[in-house]
Amino acid sequence: MKVHVDMEVCAGFGVCLGLCPEVFELHDDGYAIVLVGEVPPELEETVRKAVSQCPSTAISLSDDSR
Ligand code: SF4
Repeated sequence: MKVHVDMEVCAGFGVCLGLCPEVFELHDDGYAIVLVGEVPPELEETVRKAVSQCPSTAISLSDDSR
């Protein structure tokens, strides 16, 4: 599973970083960036939670495991 943050939409609330600092980091310019190419399986559930709790719905997932 891959995760993507739309930096045009992200408002830097930091919810995702609080939930999953292993995957998300706040860029100096005030939006979140993704630190990993592939989300480790043990973090997938946490990342899904971040997707659903992001106030800007800036986070999207893609599943390329097919
Ligand atoms: S929770 Fe959403 S708006 Fe907040 S920093 Fe993360 S991606 Fe950006």
